[in-house]
Amino acid sequence: MEDTREQEENKIRTLLNEYTVRSHYKLNPDDKIVDRVVKGLAMRTIKFGYAYCPCRLVTGDKDRDRKIICPCVYHEEEIERDGECHCNLFVGDNYQGKDEKGE
Ligand code: SF4
Repeated sequence: MEDTREQEENKIRTLLNEYTVRSHYKLNPDDKIVDRVVKGLAMRTIKFGYAYCPCRLVTGDKDRDRKIICPCVYHEEEIERDGECHCNLFVGDNYQGKDEKGE
């Protein structure tokens, strides 16, 4: 189980890094946040077979749930609006971090 989880985490990290290369988004500079989301994505992959967003509800309806496979259909709009996706995993170019924003 531990091996499976570690393998899944590594696969997910690779996919996320690849995505940052072909998109104009970056991973959150705070490694702790990235680690937390990666762990969540790995757990969901093991449980459901897909890397569903760990910050959203899995409904059991495959068509609806497909939209929350990371990177979800919502992240671009969220980053545009908030500077970060709902899970704080991907951030835009001008992201300054929570502390610097005083939150
Ligand atoms: S909110 Fe962020 S972490 Fe969650 S699925 Fe969308 S892009 Fe991935």
